[in-house]
Amino acid sequence: NKYSKEDVLRISNEQGVEFIHLQFCDIFGILKNVSIPIEELDKALNNELMFDGSSIDGFVRIEESDMYLRPDTDTFVIFPWRTSSGVEARLICDIYNPDGTPFEGDPRFVLRRNIEEAKKLGFDAMNVGPECEFYMFLTDEKGNPTTVTQDSANYFDMAPVDLGESARKEMVSTLKQMGFDIEASHHEVGPGQHEIDFKYDNALTTADNIMTFKMVVRIIAQKHGLHATFMPKPVHRIAGSGMHMNQSLTKDGKNAFYDPEGPMELSQYCYYYIGGLMKHAKALTAVTNSIVNSYKRLVSGFEAPVYIAWSGRNRSPLIRIPAKRGNSTRIELRSPDPTNNPYLALSVALAAGLDGIKNKILPPKAVDRNIYKMGRSELEDLNIERLPASLEEALIELEKDEVIKNALGSHVYNKFVEAKWAEWNSYRNYVTQWEIEQYLTKF
Ligand code: GLN
Ligand code: MG
Ligand code: MG
Ligand code: MG
Repeated sequence: NKYSKEDVLRISNEQGVEFIHLQFCDIFGILKNVSIPIEELDKALNNELMFDGSSIDGFVRIEESDMYLRPDTDTFVIFPWRTSSGVEARLICDIYNPDGTPFEGDPRFVLRRNIEEAKKLGFDAMNVGPECEFYMFLTDEKGNPTTVTQDSANYFDMAPVDLGESARKEMVSTLKQMGFDIEASHHEVGPGQHEIDFKYDNALTTADNIMTFKMVVRIIAQKHGLHATFMPKPVHRIAGSGMHMNQSLTKDGKNAFYDPEGPMELSQYCYYYIGGLMKHAKALTAVTNSIVNSYKRLVSGFEAPVYIAWSGRNRSPLIRIPAKRGNSTRIELRSPDPTNNPYLALSVALAAGLDGIKNKILPPKAVDRNIYKMGRSELEDLNIERLPASLEEALIELEKDEVIKNALGSHVYNKFVEAKWAEWNSYRNYVTQWEIEQYLTKF
């Protein structure tokens, strides 16, 4: 372990920390936080801190609302930025019931449980490297976010010094100060769109990192007068923001997806894992692409996947195998977007892959051509199915898939589908600008 309780207390004192943010997230991936003054830290570290869970979306009913926060000392980080209240730090927490059992509605617990399943099958870890994309938009005179960007730079352009570029630089340096290993950071295809990639780590740490990452990106953008958004498709006809998930399993400390003797130097485990992901792709999409807007991104022409296929070369399918082998052998799942709950998204991906391994599910043949360019009959001949086209379709698939439902556990599953159906129905009833433009004068 990185830090003991004593380490956290000592470092906090040495650094003059005044406030600690105890963080966790709700089922929908929204970061929650309970702030305590430094005097309360000892109590918090003894797991004596209670909070009212009924105020959190999708958590508990009023009658059973007392929850305990158990800080994970390994997640201790001092915020590099200063606020009016001085030096602040955070601890990510697990949530426990008053009787000392882990709370089933805690997404972090859900992921821990799925990681245990991998361990039972002899895999010591799931490693994940995410690629988070986001837009930065200008704010208006009142400080409200717009969907206007300042730059007209393009993919990998050396843009002139502009707001977006300098904000991104500060994001990178802030993340580094918080212990992130930044592997790449670049402008993306859309104007005002950026990507920052940090180093892979075990699934739980990566999910924690994604939560921290999104928080930092928003805070730093705001400092630069910009609004950062992870909304998957903020502007029509312009590239959406994805969060590719590079994943692999390790066995006996070695990358279990690598086999120098295997076809394409991939192991049997790797093929089964791909097979499992593809088998459960439709259902897991409800979790990896969890909002109405997610499905505006999953359309042809913007490097986002639409069809359930895999390839070693092409970037249009759902799953790609990046060229690196040896310890870096991995598969890249390209459908997830950064609005998902990373703990749940990794849970369902892992459960799907493990189901492939348990049941020796072989994937269909790789599709190395551009699927966007294929016609309907060709897709049918090759038996290529598409991902759900809406949150509604995805929810219907989720309701049919026991493996993915089990990965979430009944508490999270029930709260999730209930809320997501409500979200879908609210959208379905809404009269959009598109309809007004198309129909108001025509009929
Ligand atoms: N923005 C694309 C997506 O929606 C990905 C672009 C890329 O990284 N090649 O997934
Ligand atoms: Mg990338
Ligand atoms: Mg990208
Ligand atoms: Mg990628």
